[in-house]
Formats: sequence, structure tokens, C-alpha cells
Amino acid sequence: TVSVSGSGSVSTDSERTPVRVDSQDSQVSDSEIPGDISRWPRQNSLSMREWDIPYDELKIGEPIGTGRFGTVYRGNWHGDVAIKVINMDYYLDNDKILEAFKLEVGTFRKTRHENLVLFMGACMKPPRLAIVTSMSKGMTLYTHIHLRKDKFNTNKTTIIAQQISQGMGYLHARGIVHKDLKSKNIFLENGKVVITDFGLFSVTKLCYGNRKGNGLNIPPGWLCYLAPEIVRRLRPQQNRDQEELPFTAASDVYAFGTVWYELLCGEWPFKGQPPEAIIWQVGKGMKQPLANLQASRDVKDILMHCWSYHADKRPDFTKLLTTLEKLPRKRLARSPSHPIHLSRSAES
Ligand code: ADP
Ligand code: MG
Repeated sequence: TVSVSGSGSVSTDSERTPVRVDSQDSQVSDSEIPGDISRWPRQNSLSMREWDIPYDELKIGEPIGTGRFGTVYRGNWHGDVAIKVINMDYYLDNDKILEAFKLEVGTFRKTRHENLVLFMGACMKPPRLAIVTSMSKGMTLYTHIHLRKDKFNTNKTTIIAQQISQGMGYLHARGIVHKDLKSKNIFLENGKVVITDFGLFSVTKLCYGNRKGNGLNIPPGWLCYLAPEIVRRLRPQQNRDQEELPFTAASDVYAFGTVWYELLCGEWPFKGQPPEAIIWQVGKGMKQPLANLQASRDVKDILMHCWSYHADKRPDFTKLLTTLEKLPRKRLARSPSHPIHLSRSAES
């Protein structure tokens, strides 16, 4: 049914609210807005405020770790949260970075999926820029695989890959490219996959090492997630504000392939090789050989498809889900009511 509002205009939902033009909006100072909120259409002013967390409201605790563009702190804002504080000093062109930040954070709030970290809000007042998400209680796949050397059996590996595909498929359906899918950005919480840091890569702009060096300085463990079309665009002295790397849904699929390899092998592809060698090989379409990998043909095929040199040959996450679903499983996974088949020792 259609409701008729007081003013006589017909509307079915709040989307129909007339939207103010930008020039008018920018003339209104923040202090005027709370005066009569009802007069303000939701689209422009209020929806921006919903995820605008005042920096003073955040209780920032001890640092958890530092990544490419800032430090993540343990914090409190209506409960435990993770606060990613962006180091603004780093950038020469702050206005541009702020624009990029707002745009990308804007995509965050559209995400509601159980395999994606919960975005709670952001501080948008420079030089205070921060992203607030729920605190992940679990460990990252990186910690499991590379630090603790945990081994996952085939069933577990497949379930993890399915959950990653589900979260990623959702992101892609929303038009969000992750751009930084890696085992460090995938948490495992009581067996549930939680993906973080999606869509944030262009905020970092920090692709090519520090400002001191002028060589190609690549953060360790990053290169092997980059698809050939991206690797081929790496330049030693790239101006990080000027050229965007060509991340796409298909380059996310390539990165997923690498995570799948890590899950299967417990290490990164091209292990121990210098960056130059990896860049050369990947750029030419060469892949990590799988001769020593003890896995079925189907499992290896997934790797090879995800790592296809041509982006359009790679499957999308919907296709990957179907393929993963068809992988033969131990009876353990399908019939938990028959614990007699439980034989973890062989694989775990
Ligand atoms: P990276 O992803 O390269 O490790 P980040 O800046 O994203 O760098 O993270 C820094 C540290 O903070 C890492 O140890 C990461 O595991 C941790 N971290 C990031 N987000 C969260 C979160 N939502 N919950 C718990 N820990 C987090
Ligand atoms: Mg991260």
C-alpha cells in the first residue's frame, strides 16, 4: 500500500525524500544541523552522520599491530572494538586522500554479511581519521598457517574456502573489490571466517616502499597475491598518488587462489624467491609448480583456474562455490551423526 504524507505528496519509502543539492548543503554549518533535524532529508546530511564517530567518544587502548597505512588499536566504543587509525602525516596530498577515504568508507556501511567484519563507523575529521570495526576474537589464517603451523584437514580447508567465497561473492555482488585479500586479512573465529580490510587499498596508496629508497620495495608476503595484470604495472618509482593499480573482481579471485594454496601447503607460493624473480615469473604467466602438492586433481584445478593469466578465464566466486561444494568430502563432514568415521589423526 502507498502512504500519503502530510504534505500531500505520495511516497512509498524514505528514498523518495527530495534531495538537497550539494551547493546548498555545503553552505550549512554543522552547528545548524541539529536544530531541526526533521527538516533535513536523510539522503544527504543525516546518513553521513550515522557512521561519523566523534573521536572523543572512542576509548583507545593498546596497539595491536601496524599495517600499511596506520596502526590498529584495541578500543572501546559501546563495547570492544578494533580502531584503525590512519596516519595522515604520511601523505602529501591530504585533500585527495580524504576524498578517497570517504568514498571507500562509504562502501563499508553497505556491507552486512556474516563472513565480513562488522563496520561500526569512522572518524572523518582530519587529521583524525579512523575506522572502527568489531574486534575479532580469533586468529588470522596467517597466524594459523605461517606462525603456528596449524594443519587443516581437507574438510576444514574446503569449509574455510567456501566461507571466504561466500563473503567475497557478497562483496562483488555489491560492486566492492577487496583489493587486499590475504591470509592476514582473514580471521577464523570459532570456525567462522571473518574477512577484514575490504576496499581500503587505495587509501594506503603506499604500494611502492618507503620514501627513502627509490627501488621497488615490496612489503613481504604481498607480491604472491597480485595477479599478473597488476604485477606487470608495478614500477620502481611510481608516484603513489598518480597511478592506480588495476584491481578488479578477477584480481581478488587470483588472491583467493593464493590463500587456497596457503591452506593446502602451509606456505606461500614462490617461497624463498626474491621479488624480482616472482615479478618476472608471474608477469610472464608462470605459476608455482604443484608437483609436490598432495591433493586431488579437482583441488589443483581450482588453483590453476584462479591463477589464470587472463583475468577473464578466472572463475567468479559463485562458480567457485559450486566447485567447492562438489569436492568429495570425508563422511565426517556430511554425516556428523556417524562418529565412527571420525579419523582425524591421519590428516590433522
Ligand atoms: P595487516 O592486515 O597487514 O596485518 P592491519 O593494519 O590490517 O595490517 O592490522 C594490524 C594488526 O591488527 C594485525 O595484527 C591484525 O591482525 C590486527 N587487526 C586488524 N583488524 C582487526 C580486528 N578487527 N580485530 C582484531 N585484530 C585486528
Ligand atoms: Mg589487515
